[in-house]
Amino acid sequence: ATPTALMAATGRGAQLGVLVRGPQALEGLQHIDTVVLDKTGTLTSGHMSVTRVTAVPGGLGAEAVLRLAGAVEQGSEHPLGRAVVAYARRTLSGQGPLPEVRDFHAEAGRGVRGRVGGRLVEVLAPEGELPTELADALRAAEAAAHTPVLVRVDGAAEALIGIGDVVRPGSYRAVDRLRRLGVHPVLATGDREAPARAVAAALGIEEVHARCTPEDKGDLVRRLRERGRRVAVVGDGVNDAAALAGADLGIAMGTGTDVAIGAADVTLVRGDIEALADAVRLARRTLGTIR
Ligand code: ADP
Ligand code: MG
Repeated sequence: ATPTALMAATGRGAQLGVLVRGPQALEGLQHIDTVVLDKTGTLTSGHMSVTRVTAVPGGLGAEAVLRLAGAVEQGSEHPLGRAVVAYARRTLSGQGPLPEVRDFHAEAGRGVRGRVGGRLVEVLAPEGELPTELADALRAAEAAAHTPVLVRVDGAAEALIGIGDVVRPGSYRAVDRLRRLGVHPVLATGDREAPARAVAAALGIEEVHARCTPEDKGDLVRRLRERGRRVAVVGDGVNDAAALAGADLGIAMGTGTDVAIGAADVTLVRGDIEALADAVRLARRTLGTIR
């Protein structure tokens, strides 16, 4: 394409809310035939809220555990972490600010941990054997397509927190339009099978990869490319950075983390995923016809 055509297309992209990092990115857009979509914060709003807190009988109790979990999650940028903090602040508002966290550590795709007043507090994807009450709460959360997170204090499972998220209204049309443009949608998420399937089913996405670590997402992209697919990845989180960087085209949600935006070739400024379909069409029209 001519420089003039590229510049015009870049300008029109910006109007659509699609920020392109240079001509190559624009050229890449017209060729993609597969799009790997992150779930949380990309297809869903990422504005999650706590739906239920279940504490083990004879343990520290729901309020105390929520206070500790809220304290640790103050260090997290993750939508799940934000939901826990917001809920803890609201529920415990009469009890002063949440305690401070020390030695905070976030493990992408797994969870967070830190010290709160001498206790080691972990908030993470459920793992290991759970007490009956928490196992029941886990099943209930999954049946409702909510994300369950486990709270451990000094190594002991203390509570299960159910966190619910909604599919972005624009995701339905976005997936539908991409498919009609001949772009195959794939959902890849660090979340569990049940919530992943529930969101995929709502959107009519057939290829689903759940429980992906950040490396798994990167591997998935590599495998697809080896099969000759031209792969775009859309993501918002630190956990998406490797996949974004390894794709033919990395696309970040403007509402996402700086790490994701930094790793991407294209940013959907308003976090509006439907703009991606507009951008693909724009790239194909302007570049496809002028070369
Ligand atoms: P997604 O791919 O859907 O954006 P992530 O890869 O970011 O999901 O996270 C995968 C899983 O790791 C989450 O479903 C959750 O169980 C756990 N997790 C990640 N970050 C946190 C956090 N800050 N607090 C609690 N759990 C977390
Ligand atoms: Mg995400």
